Amino acid sequence: MIAIIVPFFVAWWIASDAKKRGYTQGQIIGWFLGVWFLLIVFLPLYLILRSRSAKPTRPATGPGVCPYCGNLFQGKVTYCPYCGQKLEDDSL
Ligand SMILES: [Zn+2]
Repeated sequence: MIAIIVPFFVAWWIASDAKKRGYTQGQIIGWFLGVWFLLIVFLPLYLILRSRSAKPTRPATGPGVCPYCGNLFQGKVTYCPYCGQKLEDDSL
């Protein structure tokens, strides 16, 4: 009995946590069922994926390096201030 109830509450916690993080309804149900039936597999997996997705992909602004002349520049610039080459700031 306890082997069903304990994973159920852990799955419930993960479902509410996933909801707060903007997961879709299908993903929440998938995680809920996965943790409930295979707690030992899906709980560590969720915690790994959660900590990974919590980090921002990259800083919005910061120092960059011109791929043409190699000089450092600050912030988001469209053209290199040193050599004047156009920088693809969206694909960095
Ligand atoms: Zn340059």
